[in-house]
Amino acid sequence: MNEEDLIFIPQRWDLKFHHAAGETGTRFFKAIMEQKEILGKKCPKCKRVLLPPRSFCERCFVETTEWMKIGSEGTIQAFTIVYEKFEGLPDPPYAIAYVLLDGANTAMANFVKGIDLSDIKKAFKRIKIGAKVQVAFRKKRQGRITDFWYELK
Ligand SMILES: [Zn+2]
Repeated sequence: MNEEDLIFIPQRWDLKFHHAAGETGTRFFKAIMEQKEILGKKCPKCKRVLLPPRSFCERCFVETTEWMKIGSEGTIQAFTIVYEKFEGLPDPPYAIAYVLLDGANTAMANFVKGIDLSDIKKAFKRIKIGAKVQVAFRKKRQGRITDFWYELK
């Protein structure tokens, strides 16, 4: 049967579930929640500091054991500004960036806040690859990635 002969049935999945953060994720989120610290893990073989921390280095296939304190400043590696509504995400507009924080070798995505995104052309002049950012923490933290965000310096 050819693909164009198949019937496609539109469906929707709306699942609520609890995702186990595991030992590495739990320590990462607790450090954010309790100490306002961002921690990465260093690969003993390639020496890269992985952020968000992983239990294993995906390049070397070895267990990571050494925790490293990561700086609260970094550089935007990639970003997007979202102007459409997506299920489970904030009302647009909002910006998300991959940021290489000082002391880490891998970039971590999070929201960029504190800038006016209402004018897309002006927003794109402010958010740039290579722009310096600072981590800002929520006052009441819950052990979630949304406990912190990036702000342009
Ligand atoms: Zn490695």
